[in-house]
Amino acid sequence: MLEKKMLINGEWVAAKSGKTREIIDPASGEILAIVPESDSEDAKLAIAAARKAFDQGTWRSTPAQARGKLLFKVAQAIMDKFEMFVELEVKDCGKPRREAEFDVNDAANCFEYYGGLATKIHGHTMQTPDGSVSMIVREPIGVCGQIVPWNYPLLMSTWKLAPALAAGNCVILKPSELTPLSALELGKIFTEVGFPPGVVNIITGPGAGAGEELSTNPHVDKVAFTGGTVTGRKVMGNATQNIKNITLELGGKNPILVFEDCNFESAVDWTLFAAFANQGEVCSAGSRLLVQKSIHRKFVDELVKRVPRIKLGHGLKDGVVMGPLVSSAHRDKVESYIQIGIKEGAKLLCGGKRPSGSEYEKGNFVEPTIFDNVDPKMRIAQEEIFGPVLAVIPFETEEEAIALANDTEYGLAAGVFTSNLTRGHRVINQLRAGITWINNYHPTYNEMPWGGYKQSGIGRELGLFGIEAYLETKQINIWMDDNPVGWY
Ligand code: NAD
Repeated sequence: MLEKKMLINGEWVAAKSGKTREIIDPASGEILAIVPESDSEDAKLAIAAARKAFDQGTWRSTPAQARGKLLFKVAQAIMDKFEMFVELEVKDCGKPRREAEFDVNDAANCFEYYGGLATKIHGHTMQTPDGSVSMIVREPIGVCGQIVPWNYPLLMSTWKLAPALAAGNCVILKPSELTPLSALELGKIFTEVGFPPGVVNIITGPGAGAGEELSTNPHVDKVAFTGGTVTGRKVMGNATQNIKNITLELGGKNPILVFEDCNFESAVDWTLFAAFANQGEVCSAGSRLLVQKSIHRKFVDELVKRVPRIKLGHGLKDGVVMGPLVSSAHRDKVESYIQIGIKEGAKLLCGGKRPSGSEYEKGNFVEPTIFDNVDPKMRIAQEEIFGPVLAVIPFETEEEAIALANDTEYGLAAGVFTSNLTRGHRVINQLRAGITWINNYHPTYNEMPWGGYKQSGIGRELGLFGIEAYLETKQINIWMDDNPVGWY
């Protein structure tokens, strides 16, 4: 078993309290590692290190080209350790291998993308009525506290670190207490490729204590949070104490709208992927299927027929395409929602239970679950379950589908399936969601902005928006006349 340390000011350290936590493979129950359980004292040390590194200016005054090149090196190092990262992601959070492979590739691409963008940060000059020279320059925000969840440990850490570092900020990253291992491996890469001490700090531990310190401490200029909406509210409340810059990437209850004129085969395929990729532990998961009544029966029958193709198991086993839920506590939560759905009167079409067989006994597995005849007001239609549970709601008209799609507190993602692109576009234009798809679901790109409307968040990650989120804006006015102004 591996005993891990965390990264503060370029040193690998234990928690000041000496406390540790076991990190468990959710498919097998095996203990993978022991990591420090940091608290607010450790977070304060990491914040002080980042503050010093930022205020001394070593990183922010490093030429953009050099910052970019270091990020390219991080990308290359991730690819050099590709198999190690894949296995770690599978074992740490339970995803199937092919999804972990996608994540590791995407993480390397993300560092490369922001390495390239480091040299494209630029301001403007403005014409002024009095002839002075006015410039707008972009500067890093400063010290950024970055808090991420457990469902995409490497990718979520990357989405935070790459743009912040490209822009010249110094950071403290806190991965989820459940899945810190790939972030610690990233930390090793940062020290190996030559990031100065204090520029990247990675602390492991829970939200209470370490996470709260990042969102309240006055020496942190920005807090960037990805996680549940309930936690997001707390983080936002804490950050108001000293008016921190804030980005929130929160939960979703995302609709898939399937019209009778869709390409049936393709829509069935994408719907299963939308609902069950990464065990449904995806903020943008299509968890509400709104399907037109004329094809409702046929569509749902086909979904149910195909569900047995979804092979559950340890993500490193051949043929496995769905892993366990991240923890037994999370499985309890998902199972309680399944019971709520049954009590609310929804019709359970498949799943709803743990798979049987010895290979599943030690893991947190739940079968892919589909509820039909869901009333839009039911809790399983309104609340984020964050597991492999799809709620099917039939509709008659386009107007009804749009109203149903918008009828939750969330506004993260949505997908529309129709052969009529005019309709597709018309419908998407009326959906209150930040990430949308027509005739596909889930593809996402480092170059495109990611984030939600309504209570799914504030701000955007990725693309040009992602680097904007880590930049301040300063105006510089240079007076060009040597004569006294003669005001008094
Ligand atoms: P969570 O909110 O429980 O925890 C997220 C992170 O916040 C963890 O690192 C946790 O330790 C920390 N935290 C907890 N309490 C805190 C506090 N009081 N102050 C500061 N930090 C605190 O979420 P989770 O269960 O880890 O992840 C699942 C959630 O994340 C889902 O709701 C999902 O939709 C959301 N998510 C959103 C996106 C997105 O891009 N919008 C992406 C992935 C996941």
